Amino acid sequence: MDLHIHSVYSDGTATIDEIARKARERGMRIIAVVDHSAEHPRGLNESKARRRRVEIEQAEQKYGIRILDGVECGILEDGKIILPKHDFDLIIASLHTPVRRDELYRRIKRCILEQDFHVLGHLHAGMFSLDGRSEEEDMEILDLLEESGKALEINSNHMAPPESTLELCRGRRILYSFGSDAHTLARVGEISYSKKMAKLYLDRGRNIIHEMYNAHR
Ligand SMILES: [Zn+2]
Ligand SMILES: [Zn+2]
Repeated sequence: MDLHIHSVYSDGTATIDEIARKARERGMRIIAVVDHSAEHPRGLNESKARRRRVEIEQAEQKYGIRILDGVECGILEDGKIILPKHDFDLIIASLHTPVRRDELYRRIKRCILEQDFHVLGHLHAGMFSLDGRSEEEDMEILDLLEESGKALEINSNHMAPPESTLELCRGRRILYSFGSDAHTLARVGEISYSKKMAKLYLDRGRNIIHEMYNAHR
């Protein structure tokens, strides 16, 4: 499972067909194409999302894998996200602005409390976190995720969250998701950091895909 892949519908370089073929070659049965949302200059709007859906459905048929129709929304000021009107299967919310520590926690906590999404993307990815993390605030974020049933992404591209944050997941019944954050075909399915970290620290965690499928089927 690789639930974080960008295509030519935002800033990725691979087409939906190429991504699906690569995923099948790598033995994946389920992936999510999550292009950036409308706040990104090359992000999804409603008509792009509709066109992408047609290609996703064709690729699912052709390659016999499940492809979730997803989006990655930036966490903006006040913790808000922008969502095009579209029936997405998977919504990731991630911080894409370099901010100071207080602002980082303020935005993310508000976003978890107030916005509708499934997965918190690449928490503490180095380039967006200007002055480190606080263990106490990380604990609060994990509490909020656990209470809201939202998942923590383990992102293999950014190697985020770092191990120091993931250690705090031990013993928690937290949902998690794996993502390569691939922007090129070669990176599709590269989730080794995600798998390794889940094994080490999410002993009582649950995979979001199992959770979604049990809930809906
Ligand atoms: Zn991102
Ligand atoms: Zn991404």
